[in-house]
Amino acid sequence: MGWLVIVALVLFLLTSSNVQQVAERIITKTQQQMSQVVKNFKIPSLADRYETTVPTSKSSQSQKQQSDVRGEKATPLESNVKGKTLKNVYYYRFASGTPEKVRREFLSAVKAYNATKIVKLVAGTGTQKQNQIVFSIYDTAQKGQAGVIELGVGGPVIIQQTGWDAYTVNHAKASLNVHYVQSVRLSVAMHELGHALGLDHSTDRHSVMYPVDQGRTALSQADLAALQQLYS
Ligand SMILES: [Zn+2]
Repeated sequence: MGWLVIVALVLFLLTSSNVQQVAERIITKTQQQMSQVVKNFKIPSLADRYETTVPTSKSSQSQKQQSDVRGEKATPLESNVKGKTLKNVYYYRFASGTPEKVRREFLSAVKAYNATKIVKLVAGTGTQKQNQIVFSIYDTAQKGQAGVIELGVGGPVIIQQTGWDAYTVNHAKASLNVHYVQSVRLSVAMHELGHALGLDHSTDRHSVMYPVDQGRTALSQADLAALQQLYS
């Protein structure tokens, strides 16, 4: 039970920016305990690189939306959720400072994922032992190749506790890069929320998990199959 109290204290301290130094000291002290609790901790990194090159025209987008469900390539799962048993209920919230227009896109994405009935995303904070998603924004100018823009990041953060009190939860994150207006779109929110829930990049253009934004806002049959695999 000792580590639980410490973890709660660290989390509390981390949220108060004026006591960061104290938090850092405590983190160093409890690093060993933490490593026992967090078995598989994947920080959603900028490596996601959900990108767009040039905006595609409206007409070509609507043509692409008519997906042929047959012959779709499977949507893979993020490596850190493979083989894990996760409950299908998530509590989601917005980080402070998340603009209204961004909230709107994420809420539409939440609605779309809830419509699948495979996962259930509920507004709220949730407890340490419950799945959570935090939606947020960041502001980063592109550093990669010319004409390539990073639109967002997202991913699962798996916390696995073993022993008598065993549980596995996902405290996920999904974030839009507000440096670019192209990021604040439902298709980008769908993609980053997909990562948060454990979906990895797909090579299939019908998937919302295709790594280049095509304006796709509907989950493909392969996307649904991947969610089903993970949450049932
Ligand atoms: Zn991605």
